Amino acid sequence: MAITGITGFKCIRWQNSKWVSPAKKSFTWDSSVVWASCRVCPLDDEGHIIISEVHSCGIYATLRDDELLDYMRDEFAVALLLEALGHGVNITVSGQRHSQIWAHTHGFTASGVLVVGVINLSKFGQEFRPFEYQTIREGKQQLVMKMASNFFKAPIMDYQTARIITQKTWTKEGLEWPMEIPKL
Ligand SMILES: [Zn+2]
Repeated sequence: MAITGITGFKCIRWQNSKWVSPAKKSFTWDSSVVWASCRVCPLDDEGHIIISEVHSCGIYATLRDDELLDYMRDEFAVALLLEALGHGVNITVSGQRHSQIWAHTHGFTASGVLVVGVINLSKFGQEFRPFEYQTIREGKQQLVMKMASNFFKAPIMDYQTARIITQKTWTKEGLEWPMEIPKL
């Protein structure tokens, strides 16, 4: 599937037979395309929110290793490569700037996202061992990763591939890529 928007990384977790956001467990990931909601932000013709720059209502994806790995300490966690969905609209409502995709210094917030890939971080974990990855935890994460790949119909890819894709999508949009790609 061709990636046309910017991409970023996000960790979600398997909990009570559902995929949920770790920081907001009421938000479930029911398919490979998910949309955020907000009671305040305006909607487009398709009913999708147009996010205020100052809200935290959109779906956030990061570019940062430390931020992603922080959530991966959970054995039911899986790292996803996400593509931002939405239009590059720019409107001002009540003095606040709104759009469906906001690019930040270290990631993006979007009205919706498409799950493009499931990132295999075990190699990354073995190489860097930033949080003392345990063998048993790694084994479970492999299973969770395969479940996610089946559920979202997204291929499993290594971390470096996901980073290269992401860097390309950002530079294509003329956005500054903020960090080095680690050599694995
Ligand atoms: Zn909002």
